[in-house]
Order: sequence, then structure tokens, then C-alpha cells
Amino acid sequence: MQDMIRYSVITEKNPREIVLLRGTGCAWKRCTFCDYHLDCCLDEAQNFALNRAVLERVTGQYGRLEVINSGSFCELDAPTMDEIARVCQQKGIAHLHFECHWMHRGKIAELRARFAAIGVQTHLKIGVETFDRAYREDVLHKGIGVSDPAEIAAQFDECCLLFGLSGQTADSMRQDIQTGLTYFDRVCVNVMVKNTTPVLPDPDVIAVFCQQVAPHYVNDPRVDILMENTDFGVGGAAQ
Ligand code: SF4
Repeated sequence: MQDMIRYSVITEKNPREIVLLRGTGCAWKRCTFCDYHLDCCLDEAQNFALNRAVLERVTGQYGRLEVINSGSFCELDAPTMDEIARVCQQKGIAHLHFECHWMHRGKIAELRARFAAIGVQTHLKIGVETFDRAYREDVLHKGIGVSDPAEIAAQFDECCLLFGLSGQTADSMRQDIQTGLTYFDRVCVNVMVKNTTPVLPDPDVIAVFCQQVAPHYVNDPRVDILMENTDFGVGGAAQ
């Protein structure tokens, strides 16, 4: 893939630094709307070289770091995980956010214990996209085989939702955000953008979201809203 911006600073709502690292690739890869997983490389030495250079930019200015890697934390190589731990200790980072697919939930306890041992609290984010199980599994192929939001949230702290898809309504989107806020610490709303998959954004649904839903949450410190998938400052083309 072309060079991408891999470091940014989020100054509003839960201020934090964010790094987009590269792993061996999402082990799931079946979500119908997603092409993020193309940002991967099977050569772990190359990944580590890239990731170390990105992590060198972390200053620790907010004591909080979000690590994303177009997949799940466990797809990062061991030296990169060691480097993340080292940077946390060196830069005084007490809160560390990772993303993780449902299929890897059994690996979260060990991750939490590892970082807790060095004084770092981990926050795990899962892409749920919607709590409507039929839509999520039959249309989006998300791979979360349960319906109960409490069960989904049991090992996770934050969730992503995906809006702007045909069939979604103001009510369904509001309901998804409310469910997310009930069961998770924070909710990240991603608005669908055109990518290389056949799933297209629905401009009418996006208009409904912007007019009837987003205004209720735009100032909510627990809700991030990304109208573009580069709004956190990473993932765009590097100049
Ligand atoms: S789990 Fe995440 S990275 Fe993997 S295919 Fe689904 S949305 Fe894409």
C-alpha cells in the first residue's frame, strides 16, 4: 500500500496520541465493508522496523496512547509489543487502547495482565458496527455469534459502530449508540466511506445521521464521530 500517515494526536474528547501500526493482517478479513486489512505484511521484521519508527514519535503528552493496526493487537509481532510496553514505561503512558476482533477475546486477559504489571491500564475496542444481529452477521459478516450486548461487552471496554448503510434509520442508529453507551465506556461511530469493497455509503442515511442523530452526541465526551475514516489523523496518504 502507499505510504500512510501513522502517527497523530487527538486533542479533543479523551485526548490521546494514536499510532497506526502494521501487523500480519486481520485473521478474520470477512467483513463485507472493510478493506483496512490490506494494510499488512507477513514479514515481521519489516513490520517491526516500521512500527518502531512510528512508536519513536510518541511523546506521552497525554499519558494515553491508542494503538490500531487494521486488525487485532495479537496480529502485531512480539518485538513490536515489547516496544509498545517500553514506550509506555519511558513516556509515562498509563492508558493504552488496542483493537481486537471477537475471535481473539480469549487473549485479552493475558494482554491486560501483561500491561497491568507495568502500571498500564488497557482499553479494548471491538468493532460491533451494529447491535442488530441479523444485519451485523447476515449483511456485514462481522463474526460475532452472540446477540446480547452485555455478552459482547464482557471483555471489551469500547465499541465501534458503522453508520451510513442502506437500511439504517435515525431510530436504529440512535438505538445502537444508546446500547453502546449502556454497555461500553466509549463509542466510536464510523460513517461509511467509499472504499474498494462493493459496500457503498448511502447518502440518504448519512444525511439522516448528520441531521437527526449526530447533533445529540457531537458534544458527548464518550462518543467519537468519524465522518471520514482518516478523522483521527492516521490512515491518510503521507505527503
Ligand atoms: S475484523 Fe476489522 S480489520 Fe478485520 S475484516 Fe473486519 S473490520 Fe476489517
